[in-house]
Amino acid sequence: MDYQEIVYERIGPVARIWHNRPGMRNAENTRLLEELNTALQQAQRDDEVRVIVLAGKGDHFSAGHDLKEGKELRSGYGVEERWKYEDQYYFEYCLNILNCHKPTIAQVQGACIAGGFMVANMCDLMIASDDAFFADPVVHTMAVAAVEVLIHPWVLGGRKAKEMLFTGQRITAAEALAAGMANRVVPRAELDDAVMAMADKVAEAPPFALKLIKKSLNRTMDIMGRENALRSHFDSHQLSHFSDEAIAMKKSGATHSIRRDASGKAANV
Ligand code: ZN
Repeated sequence: MDYQEIVYERIGPVARIWHNRPGMRNAENTRLLEELNTALQQAQRDDEVRVIVLAGKGDHFSAGHDLKEGKELRSGYGVEERWKYEDQYYFEYCLNILNCHKPTIAQVQGACIAGGFMVANMCDLMIASDDAFFADPVVHTMAVAAVEVLIHPWVLGGRKAKEMLFTGQRITAAEALAAGMANRVVPRAELDDAVMAMADKVAEAPPFALKLIKKSLNRTMDIMGRENALRSHFDSHQLSHFSDEAIAMKKSGATHSIRRDASGKAANV
């Protein structure tokens, strides 16, 4: 496949898939999400690939879904159309990452916001640079119940997830490390090397044993209710798109609120 919005890179046993819209702070449009999903299948099919890294070119991992595209193409969507679109591109594509049978690592720098937060946290491991920051401000900025995949309590713990979602504020890389969401935090200049060192270490493990231990760990989380909880939230999230609050917020110009919330340079969506 001829990728336009991502870069697919093979380094020995590692496939690294980059968001590649640095001028748009890697805002995830439909094509980018489609390509990410295709690249993930490509990496899974390739027997030489042992580990998959998700990353972002430029200063930021991703500022989230491309709301400009959403406004242009999908603002007139009703319940059924929105549900169908978000179920495929936002929910199922994310779960494809979560349930990918090879180990995955998120390489995160700069903004990791909303849709970007969701994608990064589908990965098994996360290495962040010390300038990384994380937020899901959409309760505050769009009057919508978080993003589509409520992975937050599973990676941050309930209390930190509530703080992040109730306040709409960022959490820092240091907070992400303390909460257990990030496995390591390193200086920005060392991020690439730290990720590749982790990937190479993981890649040394026999792949079938890795596949089985990942499956067991994922099943453990799912027996605790993770996947059902994620599916349940998706339904609530859809309802929240059509609340009086959300409609009023949309009319008042939600994209500007998001731009403000992410402090200008952090997010363009
Ligand atoms: Zn949504």
